[in-house]
Amino acid sequence: MTNKLNTKVAIVTGASSGIGEATAVALAAEGVKVTLVARRADRLEQLTKQISESGGQAISIIADLTDEMQVRDMVFKANAYWGRIDILVNNAGVMLLGSVDGADTEDWRRMVNTNLLGLMYVTHAVLPLMKAQKTGHIVNISSVAGRITRAGFAVYNATKWAVCAFSEALRQEVYKDKIRITVVEPGAVKTELNEHITDTAAKEQFNLWISSITQLESKDIAAAIVYAVTQPPHVNVNEILIRPTEQER
Ligand code: NDP
Repeated sequence: MTNKLNTKVAIVTGASSGIGEATAVALAAEGVKVTLVARRADRLEQLTKQISESGGQAISIIADLTDEMQVRDMVFKANAYWGRIDILVNNAGVMLLGSVDGADTEDWRRMVNTNLLGLMYVTHAVLPLMKAQKTGHIVNISSVAGRITRAGFAVYNATKWAVCAFSEALRQEVYKDKIRITVVEPGAVKTELNEHITDTAAKEQFNLWISSITQLESKDIAAAIVYAVTQPPHVNVNEILIRPTEQER
């Protein structure tokens, strides 16, 4: 533990698996007090226990981030418990790949409502607290898909592109309040993300591709996030694009 962050408090969304889980563990190991947010209560409870058994501090709050009232309630509870919020990792997301033609538009709503609106709701609820503190760091998880388009990725691309645009415009809005914004754009990471794809052909194609390369691990992305949030206050790491060595585009 470097203790650089041991007075800090964080919210990590999508902490019940993958990148969010690894980020919560990595931040807690740095001494950060962490609020774990997702819908799966059992996973969050297990992780809260794991973190406290390792000497860290964490609480879990169940919330569906597509519901603005649940988001506001979650941020209120987190702030009431810890008394401040220094770091927000907007990580929760879904990747429901498939062609535009013939798509189940419910997949589109889930992606837009989670990856984009959910991220915006949490940001909107946290910003007044960070402004009052005159400090804060928001880390938004976009993707290589926020920079590179591919057939079959159109709506996922659109949400992640929007996360990049939102992040940079927000940075320009809040830099005077000493709030830092970092956007992280991972390539393929070994997580549960691909398991939720509903289009069978798209899922098969994606799984074939990821089985042909050595993917990143969630802890690789967590390490990038810890790097960004441990910089001194005058340093704002704006963007981290991180691919597996074997990923071409
Ligand atoms: P996982 O599927 O392992 O994790 C996704 C997390 O998001 C889960 O904790 C899930 O929790 C949470 N989540 C999804 N929907 C909601 C919701 N409505 N409300 C609250 N929480 C929700 O995938 P990853 O760890 O890979 O994904 C994390 C982020 O990283 C995503 O934004 C993804 O787009 C991005 N990313 C991932 C890449 C990869 O290759 N894996 C590459 C680039 C970016 P629960 O179901 O319990 O609610």
